[in-house]
Amino acid sequence: MTDLAALLTVQELDNTTGALRHRLATLPERRVLDEANALVAALDTELAGRAAPQRELEREQRRIEGEADGIRAKADSENRRLYSGAVTALRELQAIQEEISSLRRRSAQLDEAVLELMMQIEPLVDSVAELRARLTAAEAAADTATVALAEAEVAVNAELQATVAQRAAAAGEVPAEALARYAAARPQLAPSTVVRLVGSRCEGCPSQMPAVEVDRIRHLEAGLAECDECGRLVLH
Ligand SMILES: [Zn+2]
Repeated sequence: MTDLAALLTVQELDNTTGALRHRLATLPERRVLDEANALVAALDTELAGRAAPQRELEREQRRIEGEADGIRAKADSENRRLYSGAVTALRELQAIQEEISSLRRRSAQLDEAVLELMMQIEPLVDSVAELRARLTAAEAAADTATVALAEAEVAVNAELQATVAQRAAAAGEVPAEALARYAAARPQLAPSTVVRLVGSRCEGCPSQMPAVEVDRIRHLEAGLAECDECGRLVLH
């Protein structure tokens, strides 16, 4: 009886292994990590979408500032020429003065354009900064979730490893033929492929065995009978 009884232990450990594998596949920590990663990806995309127009406007701002600087430098140099004494003809002096006025008007227009751009950029900068802060927080949460998942996996895997070792030891005690019958029947009948005979009843179903049959198998050497009703292996 001891040999065959070990089959019940094998079955129990197989059930435990199945439950542990299921736990490993459905760890709540994995769902938390998946959600954290999805949030990081969404914020990343949103950030890229908002940062691009900001960069575009900033480029335009630098271009106009550069143009305005060039115009101011030209006006300054014309101004120096005006007062250098090198030019004496009235007509030419007037022409230089008009040129300086025109350059100053143009640079004032460009300064105006830069101010308008800065007003467009300001809210973008704020919203990009706010998004960046949210992304940083989401990345930290994803890191924490990664660690939590790894810890949970290590714990379940340790249990799984111990169970597999126990199962191997228990299976070593079961006659090979009984183990093979169990393995063949388990896919249809797990988690209760092997059951005990309780009184004259198969433990797996309400079916009563004929008293004569029960009496007969009770006097036989320990073995596995097959329940006519449910097909389970009945240990007696
Ligand atoms: Zn049965």
